[in-house]
Amino acid sequence: MKYDHWEKYQADYFKGEKSAYRKEKERMAGVLIERVEKKLLPGLSKAIEVQEIATPLTNLRYTSNYRGAIYGWNQTVNNSGQNRLAHSTPIKNLYLAGAWTKPGHGYGGVLWSGLECFGEIMQNW
Ligand SMILES: Cc1cc2nc3c(=O)[nH]c(=O)nc-3n(C[C@H](O)[C@H](O)[C@H](O)COP(=O)(O)OP(=O)(O)OC[C@H]3O[C@@H](n4cnc5c(N)ncnc54)[C@H](O)[C@@H]3O)c2cc1C
Repeated sequence: MKYDHWEKYQADYFKGEKSAYRKEKERMAGVLIERVEKKLLPGLSKAIEVQEIATPLTNLRYTSNYRGAIYGWNQTVNNSGQNRLAHSTPIKNLYLAGAWTKPGHGYGGVLWSGLECFGEIMQNW
């Protein structure tokens, strides 16, 4: 579920007051498990021994990505590859690499991003 749904819990979440957030998180997990159980895996809920639930607030907390967006900007066709945010910036000697920049998110994407960024830095040296 999108960040918007969890935003109302954010202030309390970062103050460590998580009871309402946890309740909603458990509720959402229950909804998802119930759906999967009905459509795909009968008996799923009884088979679960350990359950970990993460939300965009979890992502925000652990990765500091804006709105918990672990993949950066929406990876649409028009916003991928060379169309994504550039490594060079209008500020001299400030370069950007990573999931929010060219070519995009994921381990493979960010490895390439760092390599490409390094290439630009060396060209401008
Ligand atoms: C739960 C989860 C599952 C994922 N699963 C997959 C997957 O299966 N496959 C896949 O390809 N991708 C996956 N991803 C996405 C992938 O991890 C990211 O796209 C990628 O790690 C982003 O790399 P990055 O270098 O842009 O940012 P990060 O990996 O977040 O690196 C940023 C670094 O900057 C450091 N930092 C932050 N602030 C400062 C500061 N002020 N000073 C100094 N250092 C700072 C951080 O500590 C961190 O080391 C997953 C991500 C998450 C969160």
